[in-house]
Amino acid sequence: MASLSENIDHFQNILKGTSCKLVAVSKTKPVAMLQEAYDSGIRVFGENKVQELKEKSEVLPKDIEWHMIGHLQSNKVKFIAPFVSMIHGVDSFKLLKEINKRAAQNDKVIPCLFQIHIAKEESKFGLSEEELFEILNSETFKNLSNIKMNGLMGMATYTENKDTVRNEFKSLKTLFDKVQNSFSGDNLDFTEISMGMSGDFQIALEEGSTMIRVGSAIFGSRN
Ligand SMILES: *Cc1c(COP(=O)(O)O)cnc(C)c1O
Repeated sequence: MASLSENIDHFQNILKGTSCKLVAVSKTKPVAMLQEAYDSGIRVFGENKVQELKEKSEVLPKDIEWHMIGHLQSNKVKFIAPFVSMIHGVDSFKLLKEINKRAAQNDKVIPCLFQIHIAKEESKFGLSEEELFEILNSETFKNLSNIKMNGLMGMATYTENKDTVRNEFKSLKTLFDKVQNSFSGDNLDFTEISMGMSGDFQIALEEGSTMIRVGSAIFGSRN
C-alpha cells in the first residue's frame, strides 16, 4: 500500500497544471495523520462534523484552511464561524441566514457553496434548481453581506455506472453556468464547482470540477 505522502504526491501530480484544487477529507482520522498530511504540503482540509472540525482546528497549524463539507445544522454554525474558510453544504435558506448572522458577529465574510441535489438517491442533501433560484431571487438574499456565494457543490449517486455519475456532474456544471450568466450581486462570485470524491474524481475533473474532495484515496478507508 502507498504511504500517505505518496498518495498526496499522486493527487498533487494529477492536479498540477489544472485549476482544480484538492480538499483533503480527513474526517474520522487522527490529528497525527492530518499533521503528516500537512507536512506533505496539504493546507486545505475537509471535515463533516462540527465538533471534530473545531477540535482539530485548535491543535493543528493556523495556516490550514478548514472546509466544512458535511450537512450543517443551523444551531451549530456559531461553533465554526470564527475560523471556517468555506462551507460547502448550504442546503437551506435558513442555514444561509444563520451563517450570515454568525459571520457578522465575527466581523467576517464566510465563503459558501450551495449544495445541489444531483443524485438519484433520496438520502443526499441539497437544493433543487427551483429552490436555488428562489433564494437567489429573494430580496433577503441580496442583502446578506457577510456571506460570499462562491459556487455549487454536489454529490453524485454512489454507483458503478459512470454515465449516471457523468450526467449528474454535467447537470451541476450546467446549473453553475446558468447562475454565472444570469445572476450578479455583491455576495455572488461564482468560481467554484465542488464535485468529485475518491471514487469519481476523474469524471468530475473531466466535467469541470474546480475542487475535488478526496478522503479515502488519500487517508485510507474509514471504519
Ligand atoms: C466523506 C466525504 C467525501 C470524501 O469521500 P471519499 O470517498 O472518502 O473520498 C467527500 N465529500 C463529502 C461531502 C464527504 O462527506
